[in-house]
Amino acid sequence: MDLVLSDEQRAVRAAVREWVDEVVVPDAARNDREERFPQEALDGLRKTGFVGMTIPEEYGGGGADPLTYVLFIEELSRGDANVRSIMSVHLGLVAGSIQRWGDQQQRAHWLPSMATGQVLGCFGLTEPDHGSNPADLRASAEALPGGGWRISGRKVFITNGSIAGVALVMARTGGQGARGISAFLVPTDLAGFTATPIHGKLGLRSCDTAELVLDGVEVGSEALLGGEGAGLKVALSALDDGRMSIAASCTGIAQAALDAMVRYAGQRQQFGKPIAAHQLVQELIADSAVDVDASRLLTWATADLKARGENHSLAASKAKLFATEASVRVANACIQVHGGYGYVDEYPAAKFLRDARVTTLYEGTSEIQKLLIGRALTGVSAF
Ligand SMILES: Cc1cc2nc3c(=O)[nH]c(=O)nc-3n(C[C@H](O)[C@H](O)[C@H](O)COP(=O)(O)OP(=O)(O)OC[C@H]3O[C@@H](n4cnc5c(N)ncnc54)[C@H](O)[C@@H]3O)c2cc1C
Repeated sequence: MDLVLSDEQRAVRAAVREWVDEVVVPDAARNDREERFPQEALDGLRKTGFVGMTIPEEYGGGGADPLTYVLFIEELSRGDANVRSIMSVHLGLVAGSIQRWGDQQQRAHWLPSMATGQVLGCFGLTEPDHGSNPADLRASAEALPGGGWRISGRKVFITNGSIAGVALVMARTGGQGARGISAFLVPTDLAGFTATPIHGKLGLRSCDTAELVLDGVEVGSEALLGGEGAGLKVALSALDDGRMSIAASCTGIAQAALDAMVRYAGQRQQFGKPIAAHQLVQELIADSAVDVDASRLLTWATADLKARGENHSLAASKAKLFATEASVRVANACIQVHGGYGYVDEYPAAKFLRDARVTTLYEGTSEIQKLLIGRALTGVSAF
C-alpha cells in the first residue's frame, strides 16, 4: 500500500476540508440541538458536485477512486457525521450497488440524477424483527402476471428514508434463506410507498432516519437489480463499501475529537498550569492520537484493496470494528478532557460521542464484525 497521497487526492481533500469548515461546521451544533436537517450542506454538496463524487464521469459524476472517497468521507464526518451519513448511503450503498450490479439501462436511468443529487438513495435491508440476520427477512415481492413485481413489507431505521427518490429494497422472491432474496430499485413516489421519520435518536439527530412501509408497491421488471435471488449478495457487497465508509467516518469524528481536546487542554488552567501539562491528560490525548492513526490506516488499507480490485470484505470488517470502537473511546476521552464542560453542548465533545455511538451498531454490530473476521480466519461459522 502506498501511503503517499497523489497531488489530486491531496487537492480534493483540501477542497473538501475548506468547504466543510466554511459550510458544515458552523451549523452542526444548532442542527443537532434542533434535530434540523442539514439542508444548506446538502445544497452545497449538490452545487460543488461532491454529491456525485464516486459516480463514473460518463454519468456526470466525479469518478473518484476509493481512497479519494474515504478522504472525502473522513472530512465530512470531521465536520458533521450527519452530513456524512447522507452521503455514505447515497453514494456507497446505493449508487455503488447500481454501478456494480446494474445493467446499462439501470445505470443510465438512475446514475445521472444521483450524480447531481436531484435523486438521493436509501438502502432498505433492516426490518423490525430482522437486523443482524438479514437472511431471514420477511418483506416479499410477488411476480406479476404481465411482468414486474408487487412488493410488500416494512423496513426500519432507514437512513435518508424520507428524502430519497430511490430505495434499494431487499425482499423475498423465493423460498427461505439467502437465496430467496432479491434486490429492487424502487422509486419512492409510487403508490403504496410511505416513509415516516423516526425521532428521538441519541445521536445523528439532524439526518433523516425513517421507517418504510411498502404496501403492494408495483414496480416494472427493470427494478430488479442483479437478477432474481441475488439480493443478499447485492446487499452484502454494498455493506463492504458501507463498512469502509463508516470506518472513514469514525476516523473523522475521532480526529475532530482529538483536535478539540488538544485545543482545550492548551487553554484550560488547573493547579496553576494548562491541563495539557498534567501527565494523565496527556495520556488521554496520546491514546486517542494512536486510535486516530490506526483507524485511518485500516481504512486506507481497505480502500487500497478495493482500488486494486481485490476482495476487501475482511479488511472492511476489521477497519469498521476497530474504527467504530476507537471513535467511541476517543469521543469519551474528549469529554473527559473537557471535564464538566464536555457534558454540555457549549462544546462539541458530547455530540462526538452521541454521533459515534451508533457506528458500533449499524451495518453489522461489533459482535457481527467479530464473527465475520473469526469465520474468515478459521473457516468455521460461529453465527
Ligand atoms: C441511526 C441508524 C441508521 C440506520 N440506517 C440503516 C439503513 O440505512 N438501512 C438499513 O437497512 N438499516 C439501517 N440501520 C439498522 C442497523 O443496521 C441495525 O440496527 C443493525 O444491523 C442491528 O440490527 P438490530 O437493531 O435489529 O439488532 P439485533 O440484530 O437485534 O442485535 C441486538 C444485539 O444482539 C447481538 N447479536 C445478534 N446476533 C448475534 C450473534 N449471532 N452473536 C452475537 N451477538 C449477536 C447484536 O450484536 C446486538 O448487540 C440503521 C440503524 C440506526 C440506529
